[in-house]
Amino acid sequence: MVEEFTDKEFEMYSRQIVLSAIGYQGQEKLKKGRVAVVGVGGLGSPVATLLTAMGVGYIRIIDRDIVEVSNLHRQHLYTFKDVGYPKVEVAAKRLRELNPYIEVEPFPIFIDDSTVLEAVRDVDVVVDGLDNFKARRAVNKACYKLSIPYIYASAIETYGSTTTIIPGVGPCLECIFPNVSDEGLPTCSTVGVHPSVLQIISGIEVYEVVNILTGKSPRLLGKLLIYDLRELTSSLVDVTKSKYCSVCGGLGVEKEEVRYPVVEEVCARGGLATFMVNPGRIIRLNLEELLSRLNSPKYKLITRSQLGMTLQIDSKIKFSLLHSGIAVIEGVESGEEALRIYRDIMENVIKIETEI
Ligand SMILES: [Zn+2]
Repeated sequence: MVEEFTDKEFEMYSRQIVLSAIGYQGQEKLKKGRVAVVGVGGLGSPVATLLTAMGVGYIRIIDRDIVEVSNLHRQHLYTFKDVGYPKVEVAAKRLRELNPYIEVEPFPIFIDDSTVLEAVRDVDVVVDGLDNFKARRAVNKACYKLSIPYIYASAIETYGSTTTIIPGVGPCLECIFPNVSDEGLPTCSTVGVHPSVLQIISGIEVYEVVNILTGKSPRLLGKLLIYDLRELTSSLVDVTKSKYCSVCGGLGVEKEEVRYPVVEEVCARGGLATFMVNPGRIIRLNLEELLSRLNSPKYKLITRSQLGMTLQIDSKIKFSLLHSGIAVIEGVESGEEALRIYRDIMENVIKIETEI
């Protein structure tokens, strides 16, 4: 079926339609395209913005996080007035304003093996905007299982790297980075990240998405591009499939037993220890109902939006809850304390939650 463009859309995309690398037919393919952007932080923000402005017809944005002031220098989908609100909710609103002719779907969920198949199903390409390898490994496994192309990328300090994974054709992420654990790896909260390197790497990711959606050969299949902003150099490293790969090497995917809910420490915010709790499945909470049940004076509502809310508890703890059941808890001493508070609050929702 040929997609029709309105006059406004035609004008909006006119500089791509005259571009030989895209053209009218390419633009039609972009409009039919379905893309999941996993993580709308430093890389995912510019990726989602470009895909939206370029007219990709369906964009699913997936993120578990809440907007913080320290995001704003590099994540330009958000402004000061969005601090404390779920990233996917703010991002979806902004992206729809940027291009009202496409569909944007927010998924406020935590990516791990329990949720990832649901998160990436029915799309043509998955784009990496993640900040940790645990989630990337889950995405890689799901994309391999569902045969969905996956554009990997990461960036830290002034460096970035990206590659295009086509399941069954080239190497998968596990072939390239076997058994990578996040432990000991630098994070942007400890060593920082230059916003310019994010623009470069996210731009290349989008270039690869467009190549795939328009039926062209991706340029980074079997190649890892590493970019260094300080030296202004890039290198292309050949990467190959490994027959010993635990995901695509035919030896079977290892299965880890995980007990939910899982609690993990995330980047400290404003010097306070911060923990994230993952319920281990995608749930839909009725936040209004939950708020009406939390009628103790120790809970004070700070922000409330369509997909989430933030409570102040006993003056020192900030508890943000997404309606998918994920919580971000600031100001607690330990993971155990975070989990105890989570359980206290979630006890109130057992009867009103429904699975999707
Ligand atoms: Zn592999």
